[in-house]
Amino acid sequence: MKNVNPNSCCICGRELTDPVSIARGSGDDCAAKRAAFLASCGGSDEMLTAIAASNDPDVSRYARFILADMRNGNKRSAAHWFGAARLKMGSAWMTIEQTAAMAA
Ligand SMILES: [Zn+2]
Repeated sequence: MKNVNPNSCCICGRELTDPVSIARGSGDDCAAKRAAFLASCGGSDEMLTAIAASNDPDVSRYARFILADMRNGNKRSAAHWFGAARLKMGSAWMTIEQTAAMAA
């Protein structure tokens, strides 16, 4: 992905001016849309981050599929990849859910 301005939204590419948005890497609208999409397919940003950081290359690949599904609005497919990651990660997945529950 082309990203000339380091202070640009990672989703739509628009320039970010708000410090909170810059720290997050995406604007308010995009962050809200992203959270809504992830929640609608049974996932979360924390889960997506953990999937992307997985040592298993098969699992870390799923994060790219989910991001592509997010751009295409394909909730069914994203839910499928979250489910596949949950199965593959096993006990590591439980840790993510516990961390997310504590943060909530
Ligand atoms: Zn954006």
